[in-house]
Amino acid sequence: MSDIRDEVVADFSDAFGYEPQGVWSAPGRVNLIGEHTDYNDGFVFPFAINRRTVLALGVRDDRRIRVASSFADEVVEIDIDDLSAEALEGWSAYPLGVAWALGEFGADLAAVPGVDVFIDSTVPVGAGLSSSAAIESAMAVALDEVWQLGFDRSTLARVGQRAENDAVGAPTGIMDQSASLLGQKDAGVFLDCRTLDAEVIDLGFQAAGLELLIIDTGVSHSHATGGYADRRASCERGAAALGVESLRDVTVDDLARAREVLDDETFRRVRHVVTENQRVLDTVRTLREEGPLAIGSLLDESHVSMRDDFEISVPELDLAVEVAQANGAIGARMTGGGFGGAAIALLPTDAVSRLQVAIDGAFAEHGFGQPVTFTVSASEGAKRER
Ligand code: ADP
Ligand code: MG
Repeated sequence: MSDIRDEVVADFSDAFGYEPQGVWSAPGRVNLIGEHTDYNDGFVFPFAINRRTVLALGVRDDRRIRVASSFADEVVEIDIDDLSAEALEGWSAYPLGVAWALGEFGADLAAVPGVDVFIDSTVPVGAGLSSSAAIESAMAVALDEVWQLGFDRSTLARVGQRAENDAVGAPTGIMDQSASLLGQKDAGVFLDCRTLDAEVIDLGFQAAGLELLIIDTGVSHSHATGGYADRRASCERGAAALGVESLRDVTVDDLARAREVLDDETFRRVRHVVTENQRVLDTVRTLREEGPLAIGSLLDESHVSMRDDFEISVPELDLAVEVAQANGAIGARMTGGGFGGAAIALLPTDAVSRLQVAIDGAFAEHGFGQPVTFTVSASEGAKRER
């Protein structure tokens, strides 16, 4: 099998006519548990996956930046002095937005040289595995090194988020970049979205003979549609009615009082966030005390909460979860923002192919489009490859 690092170096040389100075990469991520908790100042627990965005970079002796990607048939070129959030558009707003955002975080962009960058990736785009954070994080570590900025990884995560929020215009949180930059092999990144404290927690999937299967339903979801904004608004309404800054400040014990204060729908939205935060904490504690074989029920409960209380599942996701649970998974849930996208199932390695066949059969039987299933393992975060 050809190595994507060799390919990206060859593509760089073809595009720019010289040898790159180095190769950097950053992974996509999957969220193990903690959904719609990020904007409520709560907890999330993603891990970096073994699908990566890889880039080759060469330093120039002028002030131009040129970016090219195997996913795009254009080379986008800009002068460093012309970088601004408004000037950037399309796919290149992700990598160029990072160059711009480094300046927003204090890098002296007046003093750095131009670069040429060629990008390739094995992270599927738009499947909820955050190809966007992968491209941002690869660019962030590469520029941090060749521009000798010395930013720490948490700052680079905020740089990627700033690029995505302001240059791309997508109102996303800090989870994806944190996972891509801080992830480690066979470990998850337990992130407190209020303090931005991040802790790397051993998953132990490999030692326990477990595998995580992604079941991409192919049902497309879009943050632009009303559902996501509507759920955020419900959370803000709930927090205001309960007199707290955010739902992070509400505990499971407070829910009895919340039921008296809130209308039924807002109460159920609040209950999802409050119990989901608790499930993230319980997952981390359970991993430490008992190991991964004991976290299955937390994944299952997370799905029920999203299906019934937060109401962000769709029939394809519910079917994927049910079939997984009936075919050897120790736990399964939808993952990501909802209204489509993927489900995850944690299961013994020797049960994977049986489940894949069962999923295909069940989707066909229900007249649903054919899902795409593949396993991912927890991998190391962004790094220099060569
Ligand atoms: P995802 O769930 O994969 O993060 P997003 O919509 O957030 O989906 O980000 C996908 C977008 O990021 C693509 O449409 C493209 O603009 C950009 N992108 C991601 N990876 C690459 C790549 N390797 N080359 C060029 N652009 C990319
Ligand atoms: Mg994304």
